[in-house]
Amino acid sequence: MRKMLLVWIPLALLALLAVLLVRTLMVAPPAPAAPAASAEDAFDQDAIARRLGEAVRLRTISWQEGAAPADVEASRQALVSFRDWIAATYPAFSAQASREIVSDYSLLYTWKGSDSTLAPYLLMSHMDVVPVAPGSEPDWTHPPFAGDIAEGYVWGRGTIDTKAGIIGQLEAAEALAREGFRPKRTVMFAFGHDEETGGQGNTRIAAMLAERGVRLEFVDDEGGVIATGAVPGIEGPVAVVGVAEKGYLTLQLTAHSPGGHSSLPLPIAETAIGRLARAMGNIERSPFEGKIDGVSHEFLQQLMPYMSFGQRVALANLWLLEPVVVKSMSAAPASAAILRTTIAPTIVQGGVKENVLPPSATLTINFRVHPRDSTQGVLDHIRHAVGDPQVDISVIGVRREASAVSDMQGPQFALIRRTLESVKPGVIVAPNLLSAATDARHYEALTRNVFRMVPAELSADELKGFHGTNERVPVSSLLLIARYYRELIRGADGEL
Ligand SMILES: [Zn+2]
Repeated sequence: MRKMLLVWIPLALLALLAVLLVRTLMVAPPAPAAPAASAEDAFDQDAIARRLGEAVRLRTISWQEGAAPADVEASRQALVSFRDWIAATYPAFSAQASREIVSDYSLLYTWKGSDSTLAPYLLMSHMDVVPVAPGSEPDWTHPPFAGDIAEGYVWGRGTIDTKAGIIGQLEAAEALAREGFRPKRTVMFAFGHDEETGGQGNTRIAAMLAERGVRLEFVDDEGGVIATGAVPGIEGPVAVVGVAEKGYLTLQLTAHSPGGHSSLPLPIAETAIGRLARAMGNIERSPFEGKIDGVSHEFLQQLMPYMSFGQRVALANLWLLEPVVVKSMSAAPASAAILRTTIAPTIVQGGVKENVLPPSATLTINFRVHPRDSTQGVLDHIRHAVGDPQVDISVIGVRREASAVSDMQGPQFALIRRTLESVKPGVIVAPNLLSAATDARHYEALTRNVFRMVPAELSADELKGFHGTNERVPVSSLLLIARYYRELIRGADGEL
């Protein structure tokens, strides 16, 4: 028996090694796609950059509730100027498409196709921008609303989030309209005016389209870029197409205790602060399970052929090595977030004087809910983990379930992929799960194909511009974005 084992163990190991190897070697990168036939085109990169600069100078800021009325009014004026500017700057498109003004400032353009049997599709972007963080103005290399063009960039608030998307869509549509293109399939454009404060404009547009009985072939909004150097082990550009958004939940934990004088304290475990600390510790020891499934699985499958041999061995053999991959991905916040619901303690309050035991203390925790979890599931999980009836747990603020996961295998995603590969030869296209929210989620009821991609090519440092200081977009990306939308509009024009 013993002898048998001694023979069998090495044999089994060998067989296992062979399986790992064969599975790894079966992974090969696909042949690169041919570049777009119309790489030579009429787009003028510098002119597009100038027009984006003009758009940046229109200060379409979404202020938080409670902002000064004069600031709010100035933003409204800027939104009106923006829509007038679109009409004046893109006359050929404006003559072809009908425009509806929704919720006072959001815009819905419909460029009617000749074949009404083809379902329309929707391109999106938002006109509003977030405010500049007070006090950060001196840190901007170029003033945030000057729209300067320098060092190969257009600088300013809203350049990547997300006026570059609007400009790219309009440049594409204008060029097509000028050269006599008339769509067979209806194409719509929705430009929201308040994405950064919840997206009432797009909520209304989506409801309007639903009332009209519109089914959309697909939606393409902001929320994905072409990232360079973002994935360890991959040097080339990776286009991460958002196919789902995480949900949002904030819980407030309140611990109670009799309080009293600090000279004769209760045992620490019975004080409000002690209870809260224990609750936090219990939560830390009960993280949400991280798994490679759904979007994260598809993401890794797409990247795998381009990775190192060691990475490929692991990814081609997830049946055995998933725990190892989950552990390594969990080490960095960006890759950890795609695997699980995340837990972020953000506010703690308790006590007002150093010699008084507070009768209560509170802890606020923000969760970004993975599509496999629900907000109710998170609440139950946290209640169970805390396990202390003297700690109340309540939901505060916005509560939102994760979006549906879009179809990653259908012809609509394939169109997005093909279009990206044609305008950026060699790009790796992979689906992604967004931790942040976009207006695209409002259209979930109208299509299974909600995608998020504005193909600006950005480094890790340039990505910090989203809502940050020195927001800027490379001028070369403006050309890429305009070409992408033009090829997308051409590619979507017919049976998919
Ligand atoms: Zn945005």
